[in-house]
Amino acid sequence: MTPKLDRPHSAPGFTIARRSNCGKIFTTVTLFTSGEPMEIFVRFGKAGGCGSAMADGVARLMSYGLRSGLDPHDAVKALSGIGCHLGPNTCLNVIAESVAFVMRHLETGCDINELIEEYDLGEANLAA
Ligand SMILES: [Zn+2]
Repeated sequence: MTPKLDRPHSAPGFTIARRSNCGKIFTTVTLFTSGEPMEIFVRFGKAGGCGSAMADGVARLMSYGLRSGLDPHDAVKALSGIGCHLGPNTCLNVIAESVAFVMRHLETGCDINELIEEYDLGEANLAA
């Protein structure tokens, strides 16, 4: 495993706000100066409880991994599709989606808000 890179004092990034069955979830992805994802922060709209503690742990482990050479796509794959007692479109899956939006934006240069809006429109059409 590659040695963990030091965190710079300051880093740019994206904060994605998503509604889920588990409430509003904010996922922040910060970037290395090279433009690669460096760390993840997760904040539940409703703070406290085991759920937000677990999310904190997942975010810290992901950040540790990203700074040690983990491919962000593998992180997204690992968290995708995990549901909870509130259904399939829930906490961990929303975190995975948010990281995936940032990755798609970094790879295509497409406006990240448009990517999210298009995705939500597609989901709404599927539900209709
Ligand atoms: Zn949940």
